[in-house]
Amino acid sequence: MPEGMKTSGYRGRWAFIDLTNRTVRVEPADPGYARDYVGGRGLQARLLADHLEQTGPLADPLAPGNRIVIGTAALNDTAVATAGRGSCSFVGTMARSPEPAAWVPGHKPLSGLVTHSSAGGLFPNMLKRAGFDQIVIDGRADRPVRLEIINGACRIVDAEDGLFETVAGRRVPRAASVITDTLTAGLKGSSTLTVGPAGWNLVDFACLTADRHRNFGRGGAGAVFGSKNLVAITALGNEAVSYSDPEAFRRLSRELDALIKASVEDPARTASFRPTTGTTWWLDRAFNGRYLGAKGGYLPWHNFDEGAFDAADYDKVSTDAFLAISEKHSVCNKCRHVFCTRGARVGSGPYAGEGVRPEFETIALWINCGILDRDAIFHMNALCNELGVDTMTFGSVMSGAMELQEKGLFGRIGGAPAFGDAPGMIQTLKEIAYASSDLGRLLGHYSDRVIAELAAATPASQADIAYCLTTAFGGLGYAGISPKAFPGMFTAYGTSNRGRGDHTYAWTVQAEEGGLKDARDLAAYVAEGQGGKALVDSLGLCDFFTGDITAEPFLSLYHALSGVAYSPESLKACGRRIYALERRLNNAQGRDRTYDGYVPPKLKVPMARGAHAGRAVDEAFYNAVLDAYYEAWGWTKGGIVR
Ligand code: SF4
Repeated sequence: MPEGMKTSGYRGRWAFIDLTNRTVRVEPADPGYARDYVGGRGLQARLLADHLEQTGPLADPLAPGNRIVIGTAALNDTAVATAGRGSCSFVGTMARSPEPAAWVPGHKPLSGLVTHSSAGGLFPNMLKRAGFDQIVIDGRADRPVRLEIINGACRIVDAEDGLFETVAGRRVPRAASVITDTLTAGLKGSSTLTVGPAGWNLVDFACLTADRHRNFGRGGAGAVFGSKNLVAITALGNEAVSYSDPEAFRRLSRELDALIKASVEDPARTASFRPTTGTTWWLDRAFNGRYLGAKGGYLPWHNFDEGAFDAADYDKVSTDAFLAISEKHSVCNKCRHVFCTRGARVGSGPYAGEGVRPEFETIALWINCGILDRDAIFHMNALCNELGVDTMTFGSVMSGAMELQEKGLFGRIGGAPAFGDAPGMIQTLKEIAYASSDLGRLLGHYSDRVIAELAAATPASQADIAYCLTTAFGGLGYAGISPKAFPGMFTAYGTSNRGRGDHTYAWTVQAEEGGLKDARDLAAYVAEGQGGKALVDSLGLCDFFTGDITAEPFLSLYHALSGVAYSPESLKACGRRIYALERRLNNAQGRDRTYDGYVPPKLKVPMARGAHAGRAVDEAFYNAVLDAYYEAWGWTKGGIVR
């Protein structure tokens, strides 16, 4: 350990699990990694790099060579608001395009992108209490197994028969709530992370579900678990967090807490909406500009063709519509003040039930499928959690499938629902998760494979099919802000390390509504946001943490916790280091400007309605932003890390 450096805050222990050889190796954590890569996502990028630099690029994310790492950071389980978010990193299954794709100019094969996914709930903090910072999982078990991590010990056990059922002729894990309840009943007080039937069936957008409804959502972590024959991880422990200077930490955390509370209580700040509406305030803002917005007109409609539709239809699925079914808060462990999650209850009708209120992105992307039935959205969200399906990519895949159906391009495979058909969409969700029909098996693949298979089975051309699928050429699926409305947001979508369409690595909407529009300014804003987000993920915090992580009192608080002293500049440098490391790994996986620069053809067609009528992605301007973006990062004009 370097002189003067302490590792308080962390557990200081990593578990390396080799499922092929059924071994567990516990190693002391490297304090140099903690300093340079902070924790969570950053440490995991480093651990993936150590692996990939040895093995070479990974050709197939479903092969045993795909390392998946799950863990936390120094701040997790402390009194800092939102310090309950854990990290999961792996090479993603959805964002890939390994086969030739003649419909992409200059296409180059892409074999999966380094992906980070964040989840809250209790599981991440329980994993830390159980004694480990990172669980590093390699290989593939020869039969279904699960992991038990209890007070500093980690073991691989055979998955019990009772965790499985047979659906559509396949033996698959039961629904996430059943697995969770079964394992928790056997280990009182524990927390469980589980694959669902979708991950077991290798659906490329399958997620992992913790504590019933918290997900490592995007990129395909569930499929990676399925490929490893790994059903679940159960954690239980009671190790308390250690502090480098406990008294200073207590004092500074009270100071920071007061700042966060004040920001949440300030009606001039968007943070003030979260305790009531969660993320759903974005629905109104995107549709009509309510909640401190401008004019709206950028809530996607009809597979991203439009950003506006009839107001009377919108009222059925608005922010207020979801507020009407909201119940009391149901927040992540250690969340304070921000409290974005609420339970929800539908009292009667075919979708009656209790669960959680869906998030903005989920609702927006299902409105994009024409679904205007709030109760069906509530029900389908709960079903995605049970089956282990990422709600967002599912929404993008379905809006594409609905357009293919509308245009008659499914040929004899057929059977996709029409826009607005909620029961049909629910049925297709089950068929995807259980791989129980030709359509379900087809749509469960990454989109380039869908395009190739569909073109082989129908008279439709690959280009015509790709036109309908905005997830084509290794896309993760665009988020709930119209990609046509904001050039900066399109840049954030286009350059995100975890795949085209991701909205979390940079977010420009407020800045662009406020007038940011110069290409260089947009590029710098996106690049800075990406480095900042890498830090938030590496600190174990939530995107909705409202404090400034590169200023006081946060920096002193972090020092009082971990003994690591960052200046604003050195902490920002960590964020850039992490992001650039992920990008370097992605370069080796096949990513360069060809991938970043791809504009799905349908996004070049201007919107006809609403405040952004006439807007589309301007490819020439986007290329100018990309030039400036690579310059801001110091990469080559081709998007390669030097
Ligand atoms: S703000 Fe929401 S997502 Fe973030 S920690 Fe709190 S409950 Fe979890």
